[in-house]
Amino acid sequence: MYGYNNLHKEIDLFNCLAHIEELKSEILDRNLIMITTDPTGVITDVSKGFELLSGYAKVELVGLTHKIISHPDTPREIFTHLWETITKGKQWYGEIKNKNKHGFGYWSKICIEPLLNEDNILGYIGIYTNITEQKELSRKVEIDPLTGIYNRSKLHLLLIHKIEQAYFENSTFPILFIDLDLFKSVNDQYGHLEGDRILVEFSNLIRNSLRSRDLFCRWGGEEFIIILDQTDIKTAYLIAEKLRNLVQEYDFGLDRPITLSIGISEYDSKDSIDDTIMAADQAMYKAKNQGRNQTLIAHENRE
Ligand code: GH3
Ligand code: MG
Ligand code: MG
Repeated sequence: MYGYNNLHKEIDLFNCLAHIEELKSEILDRNLIMITTDPTGVITDVSKGFELLSGYAKVELVGLTHKIISHPDTPREIFTHLWETITKGKQWYGEIKNKNKHGFGYWSKICIEPLLNEDNILGYIGIYTNITEQKELSRKVEIDPLTGIYNRSKLHLLLIHKIEQAYFENSTFPILFIDLDLFKSVNDQYGHLEGDRILVEFSNLIRNSLRSRDLFCRWGGEEFIIILDQTDIKTAYLIAEKLRNLVQEYDFGLDRPITLSIGISEYDSKDSIDDTIMAADQAMYKAKNQGRNQTLIAHENRE
């Protein structure tokens, strides 16, 4: 016979299980960073985890487009690729910088999945992982703190990829070694802080003149390296001269121009990368010895 006590025990167990389920979904909601949108990108729901990360309350987000959280640092092409993928009903994985309610950027690794009903897209669900700390750390390891461009150790990593590419495509690439002329005297005349400002302005000027697929790095001090993508040595020389003239004519706010000595060498799969960099360095030194403010190509200097 099923007794009164047994019934009570079952109700207790039932209540206990229901409570566990409630706790589970609360904990998941708090820890899962999730957002759902309709097919046009209008936000339909966010988890507590998303509220905590973004600083917005759910009511402030629902009904608005996802653009409210987009950060301008995320390249346009990433969003284009994202939309092209998910509107075809496929998953998209990638890294995106968003901004929180106070305008601060944060990095997320995101998986966006379409919510499908047979072939119809009912909306999208995005699951985020906050990777801001990792991004900040790798930025510190890769980026020169003064100029904001790649440092020497990042260049070495990027070169591994360039060398592989050159090997498989049987192609070459040019290396430009740039040294600012008589920079010690700029520091002596205007002070070290002014010298720093010139290095920053110089870096911005060069960075803005290059294509995004070219590599620009601070080798150390007032020495910089440029790796031009898919460029032959003659074109590299013309580009180096264009940059040298641009810097010489740029108004740095000093009563003297800033000039550059540039050495160029060409990496070939048969050579070692260190030898190629050294050849560009030597060509740059030869340019110094010949009077500075000029560009020389390495192989043309061989005696
Ligand atoms: P050269 O034309 O032969 O290259 O002459 P130079 O004076 O540029 O060469 P040198 O190697 O004698 O001096 C390099 C100077 O660059 C000395 C150093 O103080 C300065 N420098 C290197 N790094 C920095 C930096 O981060 N900030 C500032 N302000 N100066 C720097
Ligand atoms: Mg130097
Ligand atoms: Mg110098």
